[in-house]
Amino acid sequence: MPIYEYEAIDRRNACNTCAGRFEVIQRMDDPLLDVCPSCGQKVRKVVSWCRGAVVETPDEYARINRTISEYEKAGMWSHAAELADTHSERIGDEGMKLRALDNYRKAGYDLGTLEKHAKSKSD
Ligand SMILES: [Zn+2]
Repeated sequence: MPIYEYEAIDRRNACNTCAGRFEVIQRMDDPLLDVCPSCGQKVRKVVSWCRGAVVETPDEYARINRTISEYEKAGMWSHAAELADTHSERIGDEGMKLRALDNYRKAGYDLGTLEKHAKSKSD
């Protein structure tokens, strides 16, 4: 189950729990907390890239990893690159990003071309 991190919006009235950041394990379909469970003060969810990696289950990671490997084995470099790229953005995974760039290269792009492509499609 994913772990969500919260902090008090107004720390002056925060209790011991919400004065710092605190973690709550919730199901994906549980509503997000808007008050501290111990003092009832308003809290907000902390958005953090490092936490993003924790939210993903090992199963999901393994599944995506396997799919990328299958694309690589089949020589479908642009498919592999796109999946790795999207995935690395989502979980903030540097290794996955490098893998995406490597696959983009194998797909026939070079990194300069990629950047140019992203900036302007007119030329
Ligand atoms: Zn509190």
